[in-house]
Amino acid sequence: MSLLDDIKALGLGFWTTWKHIFRRPLTIQYPEQKRIPYPRYRARIVLTRDPDGGERCVACYLCSAACPVDCISMQAAEQPDGRRYAAWFRINFSRCIFCGFCAEACPTMAIQMTPDFEICKRDVMDLVYEKEDLLVEGCGKDAEYNFYRHSGIGVVTPRGGNPDELPPVDARTLMP
Ligand code: SF4
Ligand code: SF4
Repeated sequence: MSLLDDIKALGLGFWTTWKHIFRRPLTIQYPEQKRIPYPRYRARIVLTRDPDGGERCVACYLCSAACPVDCISMQAAEQPDGRRYAAWFRINFSRCIFCGFCAEACPTMAIQMTPDFEICKRDVMDLVYEKEDLLVEGCGKDAEYNFYRHSGIGVVTPRGGNPDELPPVDARTLMP
């Protein structure tokens, strides 16, 4: 490499610095100044309700199956009419990587990501959120959607017992 190349490289470096000298600084004085994230920013997770105020979560375990770091756990329970819900629901935010897979997997729109990124705590145990901490009053991103209006609740009837449903076939009767 020649001396000329060295001088050129130096000049380019200084030119880059010089270009930015008169620009407005981008530094934000957090926490006095707060930046508003984009609406689809993936931060604190919440459990939402359907338009009738009922819990949307049907404790299907899909979110916990999709979670790559296994930080969601729950216990399924059933109301007398067959409507499922989570008796308890827990997210360990100290392990969560905010990938959004849980929200993608959820068939009922129950679990949703919000732009609230201020969830740091001094004690790591405070990052374990229970259902009471996660459940919000609103519907979140889809205010109209109600899973049970589409699916119905009567999944507790025996297979073949629902309207327009054929009785189950015994596979052994199909054998030659
Ligand atoms: S955002 Fe990702 S890591 Fe966090 S709970 Fe959901 S699936 Fe798990
Ligand atoms: S939050 Fe959604 S995916 Fe997770 S258990 Fe409840 S209904 Fe299923």
